[in-house]
Amino acid sequence: MAEEPCQCSDCQRFYKEHDRLIREFPTFKQQQELNWASIQSFRTLCNKITEELQRELSERQLNEDIRPEEKHISDIEITDSLEELESVNAYLYSIEALMERIFDTKFSNNIESKFKEIANELAPDPLNMDRLILNRLFHQTPDSPDRKNIN
Ligand SMILES: [Zn+2]
Repeated sequence: MAEEPCQCSDCQRFYKEHDRLIREFPTFKQQQELNWASIQSFRTLCNKITEELQRELSERQLNEDIRPEEKHISDIEITDSLEELESVNAYLYSIEALMERIFDTKFSNNIESKFKEIANELAPDPLNMDRLILNRLFHQTPDSPDRKNIN
């Protein structure tokens, strides 16, 4: 018997997001851009947090009279996190270098059309026909050209 994919809420959220990213970014070029932006935003955020934590740590070293109860993040918590972030930033940097290599690839319109076609099979529109029809009705005004065509 084939194993059923896990249906816990985390996995379901993942399947949904996975399909959405195929549906909304169905070409090779769009996936390149999406993943580049995603890596860059992750890096920007992690770098900013690293800077911020380093600043906070050196401020504390200058003001040794800050009492422990005034710190809502402990020194050890900051030091540990900075260590973790250092590895994360190094990994992200490596991923960025690999992404640059992927960016060297460019496909013709014919191949991009194939991407779109397969994307459509992999992650078809989640809205069923009834919802689509209902949606169209909601967006129609009585005198829109669409309405006249239907009647
Ligand atoms: Zn799961």
